Amino acid sequence: MTELISVQGLHKAFGDLDVLRGIDFTVDEGTVTAVIGPSGSGKTTLLRSLNALDLPDAGVIRVADSTIDFSTRPQREAIAEYRAQSGFVFQNHNLFPHKTVMENVIEGPVIVQKRPVAEATADARALLDSVGLGDRLDSYPSQLSGGQQQRVGIVRALAMKPKVLLLDEPTSALDPELVGGVLAVIKDLASQGWTMVVVTHEIAFARKVADQVLFVDQGVIAEQGPPSDVIDNPTEERTIQFLRRLT
Ligand code: ADP
Repeated sequence: MTELISVQGLHKAFGDLDVLRGIDFTVDEGTVTAVIGPSGSGKTTLLRSLNALDLPDAGVIRVADSTIDFSTRPQREAIAEYRAQSGFVFQNHNLFPHKTVMENVIEGPVIVQKRPVAEATADARALLDSVGLGDRLDSYPSQLSGGQQQRVGIVRALAMKPKVLLLDEPTSALDPELVGGVLAVIKDLASQGWTMVVVTHEIAFARKVADQVLFVDQGVIAEQGPPSDVIDNPTEERTIQFLRRLT
């Protein structure tokens, strides 16, 4: 397996609060990593560090073709290159409300990547088709359900052709009946071979789809391994307690 992400010694504080206190893990190409753990344990900060949405205080992180040592202040160009390796899907999708579905999706490819509009549009149409939104290209976000909006959020990230997809609690803002449709899209992407890191509270989903589970507690990875270990046979007391509280 080819390693696509490597994180070594990741630290991040917000003021006096040490949020990430030495995180190490790797992600192989074509695999799904689920990040689970209690609220406030640092999961989102960990994910955001992989896209430099939060800048770590220390740590060497490689994402695909870009490596940054965050203990020295990185150059802006290096951060831009690092950020371009991954696509980030936000909890609340962050779509532009005044743009149509198609306009939302092609914005990045056309404006940032300077790709021809016709090409970006054709790619976007194929992607939107693949998530069941081929007939909603001209809709505005407010005309879509939360689940449809989140699927557009996923397509918008995919349209930039990243090496890795990072998803931050992609279903936690959705009404329960809409969760399944979005999880099905993520599962489909996994079967297409996308490399993904997903922060999620959906333990059943993590068990089914993840190759690797990271259980984060108080800023460290307290337990990691395949779901058959971390979810079905956890050895750390903190993991056992966390999973017990969910059921
Ligand atoms: P999780 O995703 O596990 O719920 P987060 O990574 O969102 O945890 O947050 C971890 C801790 O860091 C929390 O205490 C949160 O309040 C704090 N935190 C996150 N982002 C910021 C920020 N931008 N400024 C200050 N504190 C933050």
